[in-house]
Amino acid sequence: MGQLSEKHSRPDLEFVDEAPLSSDASYSARARKNFESVSERVANLIEKAKVQKAKKSKSSVDYSKGKPNAHCGICVHYEEGSCKLVSGEIEPDMWCELFEPRGE
Ligand code: SF4
Repeated sequence: MGQLSEKHSRPDLEFVDEAPLSSDASYSARARKNFESVSERVANLIEKAKVQKAKKSKSSVDYSKGKPNAHCGICVHYEEGSCKLVSGEIEPDMWCELFEPRGE
């Protein structure tokens, strides 16, 4: 006769073959939440990469020193150190050929 597994050789211990339903449900809920969180982050990264890829390079739009009445800081495309149309870090006192003044 073969050797009994620990489960069968210890009748004094209660083994649970399957975790209680509430534990499975909790695990599934956490796993689904983690999956959704990771999926959302991946989707955001893909979207950022698409936007970044679609932006023009500074050299292609003649990014250079701006003028008092024409610079990134007052352009509709400027957003806190970056530009919706041009890639890379954007200084508020610079400008490019895509400049469009804010209509404030
Ligand atoms: S001037 Fe050009 S680089 Fe600057 S914010 Fe506007 S579009 Fe972007």
